[in-house]
Amino acid sequence: MTSLTTALIHHPYKPPEGFVAPQPGVFKASTVIFPDVAAMRNFEWKDKSAYTYGLHGTPTTYMLEERLCTLEGGLQCLLLPSGLAAVAIVALSLLRTGDEVLLPDNAYGPNKALVEGELKSWGITHQYYDPMSPQDLVSRIGQNTRLVWLEAPGSVTLEFPDLREMVRVCKARGVLTALDNTWGAGLAFAPFDLMPGSAPALGVDISVHALTKYPSGGGDVLMGSVITRDASLHMRLKLTHMRLGFGVGANDVEAVLRSLPSMSLRYRAHDETTRALAQWCLAQPEFAQVLHPALPDSPGHVHWRALCHFGLGGAAGLFSVVFDPAFGSARVDKFCDALQLFKIGYSWGGPASLVVPYELAAMRSVWPACIKQGTLVRFSVGLEEAADLKADIAHALAQSLR
Ligand SMILES: *Cc1c(COP(=O)(O)O)cnc(C)c1O
Repeated sequence: MTSLTTALIHHPYKPPEGFVAPQPGVFKASTVIFPDVAAMRNFEWKDKSAYTYGLHGTPTTYMLEERLCTLEGGLQCLLLPSGLAAVAIVALSLLRTGDEVLLPDNAYGPNKALVEGELKSWGITHQYYDPMSPQDLVSRIGQNTRLVWLEAPGSVTLEFPDLREMVRVCKARGVLTALDNTWGAGLAFAPFDLMPGSAPALGVDISVHALTKYPSGGGDVLMGSVITRDASLHMRLKLTHMRLGFGVGANDVEAVLRSLPSMSLRYRAHDETTRALAQWCLAQPEFAQVLHPALPDSPGHVHWRALCHFGLGGAAGLFSVVFDPAFGSARVDKFCDALQLFKIGYSWGGPASLVVPYELAAMRSVWPACIKQGTLVRFSVGLEEAADLKADIAHALAQSLR
């Protein structure tokens, strides 16, 4: 007879099998128990044929990985504890001393911080290319260029690049491409099939997605994914992932699995409200420019239209305004402070609308020709009613004019 303490740990009861519900079960474990020592020696986690340790995958993480592959049209997926960690592992896995990486000048800020910080100190060089010029990109590809980052559109300035042409020139030069696909989210366009119907498919090599945004949708999870369509490239990334010990918590995976079914509906709702607000902002004299790829005058609109007209044809929930230079940054701060529904904070993809003022001069190596001078404010539109958000902006404009 074992003691009560032991009996509670090694309890023999097993619930009946065959429980079926729309929601998947959630498995949480560091240790995975093997039936015998031979199994411990032979189980292979790399191809998902077995389980060996919580860090190497559970039914819960495998399930999310497969669903994300379906979302983005990929074949292999890695999960990481944040979108930024997903960005970072691509560099850590694929770049070595002497290599060079190219980033668009409008790249996600922390990716720039990574190349200027750790990568530089490890002897990995970088260059920033003009996101609106495939010619500028190709002119910077050199002997040591191993990786080109792409972003469509820039997450603050929202210029939409000629993504197809950029992927074409990188492929022609044999350089790997990694797309930060957080904005498109697998819904606005297919990152691995940028020219549907073309054979072979034109697509990026790696799609990185901050699941923190639309897949989570709740503003309560940090997670990232790295998706590929090439088994050997995936294995390079996966071995780095394993050696560095990146893992994600089952509760967080559960939250994303719960939100994923409603993602396309939420994305469409964010998109619709955002377009209405951006359109309304065009008519406000305080704004010198409204940046949203679906607006005909927004930089790269033709590229957005060419790429995003199929599928949901989406444009996500972001838009930015450039204030007339007559509004100094102090007044723009006052405008942001006066907003009530738009909260001041980073990130996007949750139900609550957010706002951040940006000084572009500090973020770019050169002021982009397609962006007017002035302080920029980026709105991340949540799931509130468009009329309420419009009234909030109108009220804040009136307040900051005083
Ligand atoms: C938010 C974001 C990331 C990073 O995601 P975190 O989970 O916040 O680290 C990366 N790229 C883009 C474009 C983002 O918007």
